[in-house]
Amino acid sequence: MRFMLTIIISLIAFSSSLSSLSYAQQAEITSVRYWTSPTNIRVVVDLTNEVSYQVKESLLPPEILITIENTRSNNQDLLANNAAIRQISISQKDKNVSCVKIELTKKTTFNVFQLKKYQSKPDRLVIDINIPDVKKILPISQKEIELIKKRSKIVVIDAGHGGEDPGAIGPGGLQEKDVVLNIAKKLAGYFNQRHDVKAFLTRDGDYFIPLGERIKLCKHYDGDIFISIHANASPKENVRGSSVYVLSTEGADNKAAQLVAQRENMADLIGGIAKIENDVVASILVDLSQTQAINESLVLAKVTLDSMVSSCHTLSLGIGRAGFAVLKSIDVPSILVETAFISNIEEEKLLATDEFQELMSRAIYEATLKYLGVSSSVVSLVPPKGYKYHVVKKGETLWSIAALYDKSPQEIKGLNADIPPSDVVFVGQELIIP
Ligand SMILES: [Zn+2]
Repeated sequence: MRFMLTIIISLIAFSSSLSSLSYAQQAEITSVRYWTSPTNIRVVVDLTNEVSYQVKESLLPPEILITIENTRSNNQDLLANNAAIRQISISQKDKNVSCVKIELTKKTTFNVFQLKKYQSKPDRLVIDINIPDVKKILPISQKEIELIKKRSKIVVIDAGHGGEDPGAIGPGGLQEKDVVLNIAKKLAGYFNQRHDVKAFLTRDGDYFIPLGERIKLCKHYDGDIFISIHANASPKENVRGSSVYVLSTEGADNKAAQLVAQRENMADLIGGIAKIENDVVASILVDLSQTQAINESLVLAKVTLDSMVSSCHTLSLGIGRAGFAVLKSIDVPSILVETAFISNIEEEKLLATDEFQELMSRAIYEATLKYLGVSSSVVSLVPPKGYKYHVVKKGETLWSIAALYDKSPQEIKGLNADIPPSDVVFVGQELIIP
């Protein structure tokens, strides 16, 4: 029977802490929002206290219902209409119980957990909803990577923070997560105009990725270089300048580097993961291959900092070493770039401009090419054995090129990760033809 389809999937969470919460102060739902990543939608409910809650899933219509005990709220609806959610509704069920109803577009899997108050972030209830029918977690397969590796070096660009984790915030309100994403995208754009270097981004929108996931992405993309991009902050408002950091095996080399690492390593606590595996911050395990990579990272750091300072006319604060969780267990040259101080009024203004973001990405791009020993002029490469290149001419489309070689557009797309989902190809773009 239909009503039998409604199932209770989870009982009271955090039951062990129930007794201590029974007489706790009534919590309040203060706000609700959501973030969209390529694979899931994260709904975040802000609360004034830790709560106990029940989760129910209804299949017809597809809904997630969360009742929160000892909580009050104002009724509100948030129309989402995205790939997973139609609407989020908050309502007061009775004087002591609030309800969060998430209307889904289709039945899907999800995960609910609480995040404790941390720094400026309040207690939060997080609902991670997997976008239905998105099976491919990664945008490109191992086989495609192998083909790209035959003709290109791979640079993995990591825009720090994102989603729930804004990173540092400037006095004018500029958020680190937005600036670094712009710079990362511009940087990837430079690389992807070439055919001898290919760039992949760990995130291309405003959503959170745990630090450990960023490392996994670098490994999946078989990156030859990993560059994590950030903006620095200091309680002293006059502090300014650029610096580049590499992983240290035995603690930070100075107090400033230690503080930067502490701040950057907090991302998982602010952005929110259900369970922090081990203590990523405390245990920075390094093997021999990484010691080698650290030496190489220092060379890359030096070239990059020199390029940034000369192109962007920022003050050089030098190269630092500390236990950065995002650089941990990456066994290729990897650096964390602190572009400028978002906490400094002047540098915040600079970071906000398109010109400065352009200069900064260009400086990092040129340094990387220099490090890789690649000329910044276009290099003509021999296509991998059994394949040929086609340079896109005016008036051509992916479909017309595919027809020309008697291939399907899908076959060509499989070899050319730089063709966007819209299938638009550009005049001058070099495509590998199977
Ligand atoms: Zn940062």
